[in-house]
Amino acid sequence: MPPRKLAAGNWKMNGTLASLAEVETLMRDCASAEVDILICPPATLLHPMAERVGRGPVAVGGQDCHAKESGAHTGDISAEQLRDAGASHVIVGHSERRADHGETDAAVAAKAVAAHRAGIVSVICVGETEAQRDAGETLDVIARQLADSVPGCATAANTVVAYEPVWAIGTGRTPTGEQIAEVHAAMRKALVARFPDGAGFRLLYGGSVKPSNAAEIFAIADVDGALVGGASLKASDFGPIVKAL
Ligand code: PGA
Repeated sequence: MPPRKLAAGNWKMNGTLASLAEVETLMRDCASAEVDILICPPATLLHPMAERVGRGPVAVGGQDCHAKESGAHTGDISAEQLRDAGASHVIVGHSERRADHGETDAAVAAKAVAAHRAGIVSVICVGETEAQRDAGETLDVIARQLADSVPGCATAANTVVAYEPVWAIGTGRTPTGEQIAEVHAAMRKALVARFPDGAGFRLLYGGSVKPSNAAEIFAIADVDGALVGGASLKASDFGPIVKAL
């Protein structure tokens, strides 16, 4: 059986308490959607959002976590704290974290291990830069990031992998269907080779997913959903993407 689809929204550093109304609209609009829905708001909104969504169809996740459980790490948040605030998932290794905070594959893997230790699902991001794509290195880069960012304790139940080409994030540009299919097939093959349940890992595509291109992207083999940035902020954009799944 193919994995259940997942529509994940990454609000990044956007949103205030007033934005919680968007989630209420989304829950209303997508009440009958037969897919999993996840919103990863900034940490300030995690707990209030988790309280609003309750046990409804929308899950809440963090955008990053520290590898340690607690301690002297000013400004950081542990996976245990995310879970305590109501998160069931956490994004790790987003390219903005890799670029802005120098996160290496090893650091990303340690964060995914922390998520699993805390009992929450890691959404591990990988993706090539434009220079790497132009140099024909995409599949090598993805293979290396997958091998080094996805920890050995990963299972289909505790890990989601998101393919997000760096050059497609926030740019309005997307790879062709063939390019997405090629990377997703390679990721599937690598996961199947490494994990007994590799066929069950959900593989998301992310990077400029919009209501206008969602259906086309979701029709591609081995695309089990999307990680959506800008178009997840408004229910009027994210709702149609959820429904396209
Ligand atoms: P975008 O961002 O949808 O705004 O391109 C995707 C992401 O960074 O997860």
